[in-house]
Amino acid sequence: MPAEVFFTDLRTKSGNNLLDKVGRLFDRAGLADLIKPQDLVAVKMHFGERGNLAFIRPQFVRKIVDRIRAAGGKPFLTDAGTLYVGSRANAVDHIETALDNGFAYATVGAPVVIADGLKGHDYVTVPIGLKHFQEARVASAACQADTLIAVTHFKGHEATGFGGVFKNIGMGLGTRAAKQAMHSDVIPVVDPEKCVACGRCTEWCPAGAITVDETARIDPSKCLGCGECTITCIEGAVEISWKSDSSTLQEKIVEYAYAVLKNKKGKAGFISFVVDVSPNCDCWNYNDVPIVPDVGILAGTDPVAIEQACIDLVNAQPSLPNAAVNLPPGADKFRGIHHDIDWNYQLAYGEQIGLGSRSYKLIKV
Ligand code: SF4
Ligand code: SF4
Repeated sequence: MPAEVFFTDLRTKSGNNLLDKVGRLFDRAGLADLIKPQDLVAVKMHFGERGNLAFIRPQFVRKIVDRIRAAGGKPFLTDAGTLYVGSRANAVDHIETALDNGFAYATVGAPVVIADGLKGHDYVTVPIGLKHFQEARVASAACQADTLIAVTHFKGHEATGFGGVFKNIGMGLGTRAAKQAMHSDVIPVVDPEKCVACGRCTEWCPAGAITVDETARIDPSKCLGCGECTITCIEGAVEISWKSDSSTLQEKIVEYAYAVLKNKKGKAGFISFVVDVSPNCDCWNYNDVPIVPDVGILAGTDPVAIEQACIDLVNAQPSLPNAAVNLPPGADKFRGIHHDIDWNYQLAYGEQIGLGSRSYKLIKV
């Protein structure tokens, strides 16, 4: 039996604007049924990196927040800190970036709670016993929330082909250490050109893996791959290896999505915006021209089905003029941009481990 995916296009008229459509989509997809009175409802967001404008508009989020409150829930907007040194690597920077991008209480009607705490140390260890991870370190606020509504911007991704629900909740709700573990089996390295030998990283390294003379050095036999030094170094001298091959990375992200959803049976819903489909991840401090025309908004309770529907809808479009790829309707836009990456791994593996079905029925709202 195919999974139901609810879809609204972006055509509007007076009395039926895009905010009305989002509210109706929420209702038709049955997302209110996931919420019991007094539930703490985590609304998983990407608040946008500074300089990147492809994030989901706060006004849409306000509509979702209002629906959650109407169902008796207590919504909060959430995300976890990043692995790289950007504008969201600790809770203070993250909240300030969210405010800069318009996610203030006055606009969205819900507080922002950074899910893994001030410096990314607040997590719950979730046993999963899968191929890559026996257990996962999931940001505590996401784990402890009663209900999860993942609000996702669907776009391309330089490491996984596309970035959708799995990227949003799997990578997004892992701690920094988890993100490092997903991204690479290789330890961070120090750039001696940038290192000023201040020693700050040695104070924070939990494994005593760093020594400093003229420059810092990491002992690979001691390093735990926690990623702590990458955030501690304010010179940006500690670099992450992003060399994990894409199929492994995709499977690891999906395993983390499994961990995030493990205690959310019947308590997780997904809303994906297929608009401003930029070629690369929203974590960059820029967003390039969208690769296809805006498509619409999807909702449902099966993350695999929603990802598959998003991919199919994007690939059914023609490329936009001046975009990073020039392909006709039906051609794979993400393979066209990120040539070496087969995005199918994340969908196939998600289906294999029981997260949902690639077979879906699109229901127009
Ligand atoms: S914190 Fe950065 S600059 Fe300071 S010693 Fe460590 S790597 Fe070098
Ligand atoms: S990743 Fe963690 S364990 Fe490895 S050197 Fe950096 S702080 Fe130390």
